[in-house]
Amino acid sequence: MSETLRVFLYALLTALATGLGTLPFFFIQTFSKRLLGFGNALAAGLMLAASFNLIYEGLAYSMPRTVLGVLLGLLFIVLSRKWLETRDPPGVEQLRGADALQALLIVGVMTLHSFAEGIGVGVAFGGGEGFGTFISLAIAVHNIPEGLAIALVLIPKGVAVWRAGVWAVVSSLPQPLMAVPAFLFVAFFQPLLPVGLGLAAGAMIWMAFSELLPEALEDVSHSSAAVVITLAVAAMTVFQVLIA
Ligand SMILES: [Zn+2]
Repeated sequence: MSETLRVFLYALLTALATGLGTLPFFFIQTFSKRLLGFGNALAAGLMLAASFNLIYEGLAYSMPRTVLGVLLGLLFIVLSRKWLETRDPPGVEQLRGADALQALLIVGVMTLHSFAEGIGVGVAFGGGEGFGTFISLAIAVHNIPEGLAIALVLIPKGVAVWRAGVWAVVSSLPQPLMAVPAFLFVAFFQPLLPVGLGLAAGAMIWMAFSELLPEALEDVSHSSAAVVITLAVAAMTVFQVLIA
């Protein structure tokens, strides 16, 4: 198998892993208000921890470029949100208005962050096959809770479980698409990697506080939302250290 094909297949595997995050929803069909609130808090905690993980990854390359990325990510997401508000967001299934906007934002933000991770996979393979395989596996495993975060937002709003699974995988498709050019042109992509990682992190932090937390607070108390977020951050941190 050619090296390039191998990079593509590994990165494709990471994308498919994202769909696994929706599996719990084949067993949970009804959502009480409280469960919904906890679900949003859980999604916020997972995204928050994932974003800091991206920042730390970026710091290993360059601090100024990572921070520049965070600022660009913030600017990008605030402008996108404003722009999307001025128009009718395209309906996703039966979603309308605020629900559709939020569904679009979470899938959009997660897709955006997959570009950076795809570049990460390609650059890692540039550093040797063993390292590339290792990073692919790490990203594949960490994609599962990210798929869960997407499912937690989409499914309670009425999106079918299998369709949420498809959206989860779609949000990770930039991984195989970016991994190949990043592998072939490592010298070009490597300096951009910290900017991309920072950009994804900035957009995800904004998403957690602007969309997921306020939604959680509609259904559960401040204190219980904070408890779930803190536990989610702790769990995700342990998880990411164990797989890295
Ligand atoms: Zn990620």
